[in-house]
This record gives sequence, C-alpha cells and structure tokens, in this order.
Amino acid sequence: MSGPLHTIALDLGGTDLKVARVTRDGALLDFACVPSRAAESAQALLGTLVGAARERLPAAALGIGCPGVIEPASGALVDETPHLALPKDFALAAQLAGELGVAVAADNDANCAAYGEHFAGAARGARVSVTITVGTGIGCGIVVDGRVLRGAWGGAGEISHMGQRSSGPRCKCGVEGCAETTSGGEGLTHRAQAAGLAVGSARDVFDRAAGGDAIARRLIAEMTDALGHQIAAVVQVVNPDVLVIGGGVAQAGDTLRVPVVAALHRYAQHSHTARLRVVPAELGNKAGVVGAGLMAWERVEVR
Ligand SMILES: [Zn+2]
Repeated sequence: MSGPLHTIALDLGGTDLKVARVTRDGALLDFACVPSRAAESAQALLGTLVGAARERLPAAALGIGCPGVIEPASGALVDETPHLALPKDFALAAQLAGELGVAVAADNDANCAAYGEHFAGAARGARVSVTITVGTGIGCGIVVDGRVLRGAWGGAGEISHMGQRSSGPRCKCGVEGCAETTSGGEGLTHRAQAAGLAVGSARDVFDRAAGGDAIARRLIAEMTDALGHQIAAVVQVVNPDVLVIGGGVAQAGDTLRVPVVAALHRYAQHSHTARLRVVPAELGNKAGVVGAGLMAWERVEVR
C-alpha cells in the first residue's frame, strides 16, 4: 500500500492545542502547541483544529484526543464538555472528516495519552496498563491487551468524577464527594486558598511545602492520600501490570509519587500491588499526540 507516511494528531485542551505528524511506529515528525481557543466559540475552536490539520495534509488519517466522553463508534461527544464551546452531542469526528476529507479517529484525551504510553512510552511491553494524568483534574486511560477500554459509550476510566466520600462537597459535575475536588490540582489549589495560602496553582502549593509550610504539607498529604485511594480502586477493578503516573502536577516527582504509592499499598490488596510496576510517564506533554496519531493509524488499517 502506498500513501502518506504520517497521520495527523491533535490533542485538544481547554487552553492549548497540540498538533503533530506521527509515523506508524509513533515517532513525531513535528510538534507544535498553539492556543486552542476552546472556550471562545465553536467557530473559533473548529477553525483552530481545521487550520492546524490542513497545514499537514495529505495524511493517512487524523486522530484527535479531546476532553470529555467520546462515543467510540461515531466519534461524537456525549453531552456537553466543560471548557469546550461545542454544542451538546457534537459530531466531532464527522465534522472534521467532512472538512478535511480524511478518516478521523476521535477519543478521550486521557485514553490517547494511555495509548501513547502503552505502545511508545513508559508502559511498553505491558499487558494491562493504566495511565493516570494528574493535572487540573485526574485523567485515566486503561489499555487491555493492546486495546483501549472505552466502555459502552466511551466513559470508561473517568475516575476524576468518581464519588469517593459519602459526605463531600458537590463537584461542578454534580457528583457528591467527587474525587477530583480532593485529588486534582485544581482541588488542591482551592483548598489551599480556602486555608489562607496566597497560591495560584498546585505548583505553588508544592513549592510552599518544599519551603516547609505546614499547611501546604498537610494539604498535599491529604491530596496524595485521596489520589492513592482513587488509584487503588482502579487497581482492584482492572488489575494492571503497569501503572503510569504523569501530568503537570506529577512533575513534582517523588513528592507526589512516594506518598501516592504508599497510599495505593494501604488501600489495595497485596495480590494486586506486589508485582505492579509504578513508573513515571515518558512522553510528557506529547503522550496525547503520540496516542492520537497511533489511533489514526489503527483506523487506516481497519478500513
Ligand atoms: Zn466531579
């Protein structure tokens, strides 16, 4: 078969759009990061996506990772997605395919990152991998025997909004005691601000803790305990052999990883954790485009 030797990959976030051309083995031929204009309007957002992709045509196919729940068969968004100015149930894959004239694979951004790490990153060689992305919220992607576990309509692995406490604050998603309010970066920042710390991000809280601030240290201890508890639930259900931890907040390194792993061992059974390899993500902010590009190749091969 002859044809273009790359797919186009888009990794859409609330602030940035990452774009790359991806080879069959997951190597990037280029990489760029531009403002996504995701919250501005549907027109601005779609214009950004189509513009970034069109510059890289011709291509074998296009893959896009997007926040929210993506219906696996159609590539449409399910319901509305916070921070994206797109209508409810927007037909994302069909719209892009129509505008660009290429086959489009659309999936949740955390699923794309997990797929990238599974085949070209920290979880290479795993049979069952779980990739946790600790950022504003908590992303989770599950790959079983080489396939992303998507669930019936794309919602599998959405642990950010898993009810975790029987009495907790109601999250903006509507779930009571939602995990994200305790374990995500945004939740940590809000809790620190409520405790009187002048911080603007999770990184600020980690910096304060490194400087010896007792309140910051306590809040990070609570956050890492909650995150370990949340990951333990996934480990008990899925039984992975590799657990990848990445995302912006995970750049705190051992300050995050050590207490999270300790909590994981407290809250999950020895049978599930004894042989589990917990590793830092390898692909950094490129995991999403690597995964989306590889998913696009998969789309080419099933046609
Ligand atoms: Zn929630």
